[in-house]
Amino acid sequence: MATRPRPLIAGNWKMNGRQADGLTLARALAVRAAHEPLAADLLLCPPATLLFLVAELLTDTPVALGAQDCHPKPSGAFTGDIAAPMLADAGCTYVIVGHSERRAGHREDDALVRAKAEAAVAAGLIPIVCLGETEAERDAGQALAVVERQLAGSLPAGADAARLVVAYEPVWAIGTGRTPTASDIGAVHRHLRRQLAGRVAEPERVRLLYGGSVKKDNCPEILGIAEVNGALVGGASLMAEEFWAIAATCP
Ligand code: PEP
Repeated sequence: MATRPRPLIAGNWKMNGRQADGLTLARALAVRAAHEPLAADLLLCPPATLLFLVAELLTDTPVALGAQDCHPKPSGAFTGDIAAPMLADAGCTYVIVGHSERRAGHREDDALVRAKAEAAVAAGLIPIVCLGETEAERDAGQALAVVERQLAGSLPAGADAARLVVAYEPVWAIGTGRTPTASDIGAVHRHLRRQLAGRVAEPERVRLLYGGSVKKDNCPEILGIAEVNGALVGGASLMAEEFWAIAATCP
């Protein structure tokens, strides 16, 4: 039987954090991680304005740095955008692509998400490819078909299992306090794993995260699901104690 990949607990700070509170949060986690080994990898994804500062703080700690988005091109006349090589230069090793807030708010489709994931890989970053159904799609019984379509359209070409993370984030669970049942999460993750089998060598090595209202109280159940290899955490990642408690739950 294949060994499960080491879990990843990723904090997506979204558009939150200024120097003072961002550095306080990152420092609290870095100090703790240096003294209390975890059974999971820890990743912080602050807003772009804090990347260089947080990178400096995380140097020589076990905590990794990621960004929340990247442009598909490596450089050029794209005002306001940030290229993947710039994120690598800032100290990132991961980048989130295709978060539902970007898919919905910035009209990003699967093709663009794939281009961003490929740009990330080309820059030496590990893309965290996000996907998930809306509430209407789940109610219509289309959840598996939707995530299957998004996975097929968003995965970078020639993906290397060790350098790819997929996050299943039902849109209706993000920031709402609602979560699917453990059985529903398991079913989606099993389906995604089967789909990965046709597209990536060693699909069992790809880390499949769950995201959507993960908190200290529900993470034992969610992270205990056999097919779940970690979590992408939004709101709860802004509180050091709560985020740490989630990471410390990993078996
Ligand atoms: C997210 O932004 O990816 C997320 C899962 O948010 P929250 O944990 O707040 O639902």
